[in-house]
Formats: sequence, C-alpha cells, structure tokens
Amino acid sequence: GIKVEESEDTEGEEKAQTRVSYNIIFVTSEAAPYSKTGGLADVCGSLPIALAGRGHRVMVVSPRYLRGTSQDSIYSGTVDLNLHSKIYCFGGVHEVGFFHEYREGVDWVFVDHPSFHRPGNPYGDSYGAFGDNQFRFTLLCHAACEAPLVLPLGGFTYGDKCLFLVNDWHASLVPVLLAAKYRPHDVYKDARSILVIHNIAHQGVEPAITYSNLGLPPEWRGALEWVFPTWARTHALDTGEAVNFLKGAIVTADRILTGYSYEITTSEGGYGLHELLSSRRSVLNGITNGIDVSEWDPSSDEHIACHYSADDLAGKVQCKISLQKELGLPIRPDCPLIGFIGRLDYQKGIDLIQLAVPELLEDDVQFVMLGSGDPIYEDWMRATESAYRDKFRGWVGFNVPVSHIINAGCDILLMPSTFEPCGLNQLYAMRYGTIPVVHETGGLRDTVQNFNPFAEGGNGDGTGWTFSPLTKESMLEALRYAILTYREHKSSWEGLMKRGMTRDFTWVNAATQYEQVFEWTFINPP
Ligand code: ADP
Repeated sequence: GIKVEESEDTEGEEKAQTRVSYNIIFVTSEAAPYSKTGGLADVCGSLPIALAGRGHRVMVVSPRYLRGTSQDSIYSGTVDLNLHSKIYCFGGVHEVGFFHEYREGVDWVFVDHPSFHRPGNPYGDSYGAFGDNQFRFTLLCHAACEAPLVLPLGGFTYGDKCLFLVNDWHASLVPVLLAAKYRPHDVYKDARSILVIHNIAHQGVEPAITYSNLGLPPEWRGALEWVFPTWARTHALDTGEAVNFLKGAIVTADRILTGYSYEITTSEGGYGLHELLSSRRSVLNGITNGIDVSEWDPSSDEHIACHYSADDLAGKVQCKISLQKELGLPIRPDCPLIGFIGRLDYQKGIDLIQLAVPELLEDDVQFVMLGSGDPIYEDWMRATESAYRDKFRGWVGFNVPVSHIINAGCDILLMPSTFEPCGLNQLYAMRYGTIPVVHETGGLRDTVQNFNPFAEGGNGDGTGWTFSPLTKESMLEALRYAILTYREHKSSWEGLMKRGMTRDFTWVNAATQYEQVFEWTFINPP
C-alpha cells in the first residue's frame, strides 16, 4: 500500500520531512541494460533506481527478450519465479512466466513468452517490424497488471494500491485494463496510472477488427477507436477505422507526462492526437529527465581512451585523437570534429544533414555519424563516407561503447531533430564537454542554453547553440558560429565546455518532479 514515512532529507539541507512513498510499477518495452533501442530504455533503466533510492517500492515489468546470442547473458542474474499467469486474448489462453532480479533497490520483472524469443531488436528485425507486435505487447500489458497481484517479491506482493507508469504505446493497454477488466471487480480501485509519452510517432495502430483480440469488454471499444485521416488511407474503400493503443491510454490514464507537452498539442507535433491531447491539457505535464551520471562520466568511463573532468580537460584531446585513429581519419587535434548519434529516422533530422553535408564539408572539419535504422539513410552514410574519405565517417550499427567514445572524442554534437520529447544525447554531450548544436524544440530547447558571448561581463554564458527554424541555412549558420568559436575563441569554448560539464543532470531533480506529479495523481479520484 501507500505509506507516509518520516524520512531524513538526503541532502541534509532541510530537517526531517514527510514524504509519501508509493508502490510504483513501470511498464515498458525497453529497460537498459537489459534491452535498448533508444532513450526509453535509458529512462526506464535509471529513473526506477532513483525513485527506489527515495524510498518508493519500485517494480519494472518488461519482456524477457531472448535473441539466441551472447546478449542473452544479460539475464543471467534473473531467477524464474515459477509462477504463471493465464491470459485470455487473441482467441485463446496464453500462459506467461515471470523472471526476477532484485538489483539496486528495484524489482526487475521479465515477462516470459515464446513470442519474445527471437533474433532482432524488441520490435523487429532486418525484414521490418514483427507482424505480431500487437499480440506481444497486449501480453505484456495483461501480464504487467497481474504482476503486482501475484508475485510475492521479497515475500510480499505489491498489492492493488499502486501507481502504474506506462511508457509509450507498448504499455498503453494497462490503464484501459485497470478500468475495464479489474475495477468492475473491485480490484485496483485505488490504483492510479500515468502515461509517459517518449515518442508519439508510434501509437500501436491496427485495423478495427483486432479490437476483439485484446481481452477487453466490448463496451470499451470507444476508448481505443480511432479514425485515420483521409490522407493516410491507402485504399479508396478504406474507412480509416482502427484501434489505437496510445489513444486508449490518453483517454484513460489519470495523468499524462512528456518532455514536450507543448509540441504534442500542435498539429505538427501531435501526429493526429493533438486535439485529443489538448482536451486532456488539465492532466498533461511536462518533465525533464535526468541521466545516469555514473554510467556517463568522463572521469571514470571505462569505454574512453583517457579520463578527464571540468577541472582537468587535458584527457579530452586524447579521446579525440584516439577516435580519429579508430575511424582512420587524419589525426588532427585542432580540426573541429562534429558528431551525430541517433536512430536513423526522419524524426532525427537526417534529411537536413543530408542536404547540409556537401556545404558543411567544404569547410576544414571532420564529421562522424553513428546510427542505424532506415536502410536508405544507412546507404547514404556509406556512400558519403566513400565520397569524403578524409572528412566523413558513417558508423552503421547500434553500439553503446562507440556512443561513449564519440561523445568523448568530438568537439560538437549535432542534433537537428524535427521533434524531441526529451533527448538524452545533448545531455551526455554536455557532460563530456562536447558542445551541442540543436534544433530549438522540446527537450532540446529546455536543456541547451544558447551561447551568449556578451553575458557575465563579457565572460559569456550558455552551453551550446539552438537554432530555429529547422532549415539547412539556420543549421549551417549555428554550426559555423560554433566552429568559429572553437577555432578563434578558445577561452569562450572552454567556458562552454565547463558550464555544460558542471550542469546538474542527476535524476534527483527529475525524480522530485515525478513525485510532484504522483501526488497530484492521487489527489483526484480515478
Ligand atoms: P530516442 O529515444 O528518440 O531514440 P534519445 O536522444 O532520447 O532519442 O535517446 C537515444 C539513446 O539511444 C541515447 O542513449 C543514445 O546514445 C542511444 N543511441 C541511439 N542510437 C545509437 C546507436 N546507433 N548506437 C548506440 N547508442 C545509440
């Protein structure tokens, strides 16, 4: 249940304070280090630990992906709880198992089912998205609702008075299930749910006839019903009728949290859901996430060539030289080295990079990109590398150690995302003394302060460059200003580095924002 505790304030600044502690269930398709394709994994891998550290009881429920590779050893610390739940959906009964690991104060729970055992990433393989994702994530949601009721973790179940944090569409059936499947039977009547939107572009949309597969009562159909706009229909006879998981959570969750609460209520950023989200504005809150400052720390990072810190920057140039060596680029410590890390997806602004590269590389700079995703962009990266052997490297793949090496070795990190709910790479970059040049949107706008050379009595202020509008010209202008500052104004550059490296991106700050929202969630009845 929920208990009120007297706890010592960890900072020691205030006297003992009263803090409510909750039973929190994260439901997510990814949690680092177990599974990761993007920022969702980072958040679900570190926020639970921060919340547990603040006295909450925290469980994270995600699938047990077995890929048949050495990566499967990531689950070697988990134990089979030997408990099974029967889930009625998709015209049959499906049995799921549960694996568990108690680590860093958090109950990590993995739902086991044959449909999670296959090569590829959580959503697909080289042939594209898996055809049964609706089934797989329907199972995850049902299983996540059962877990607090049936799993005696550390001897006690979490019980039904808990708070679900459901992340993106894969977990979006949870609030609908609480309302439609459990509450009519007096279970979870005091539970609450918060939808956390990391990426609104993916909503879990499938044909309307699939509704009957989801294990929901027929009268709840309206919660998921959705009609495609005419332009998105593929056939003249297509009526556009669909079910939309994310919509289900938007209308049934008690609160909605996102890094880009403004953008998703606009027609450009809402991906068809902006009007609905506007109508839910009273329960919509913005939030800035933190980062795992022990995993991302240039003074102790095991992946990088040389350690450094804001007090002693000398190691950074060694990291740069080592990166240039690794990439086979000319070893030139003074040449501005620009980096990009991210999914190769339209969202990340790759089109703009493609447009800008020929002009950008006329200058004496080096540019390295790490990413995987759309094969068209992957091919473009390979072709660009052959065309600019001395200046450009495109590293196709998903490789966490390399992402650390690039963050440490580059001078500038480019993020021209069309939209960005939170964005983590700009935070990692700043922590590594790499100056972000970002599109002024969402979490990027909130976390990067534009360089101002005149502030602070001429000493300068800011941590990077933010540009707008999202055009090639304004991006190149910001990059050129950054390059000029790097070359001509060393002390300004060092100021930028140090301010970014010493900013507080710990989860403590973000966790208190989350706690505030938890409190609001429990004030109002479901
Ligand atoms: P998103 O969640 O939209 O992908 P974020 O910036 O919030 O974007 O988070 C992306 C995360 O995924 C970061 O931790 C980033 O370092 C990581 N990442 C993205 N692409 C790669 C890649 N090719 N190799 C390694 N890590 C990557």
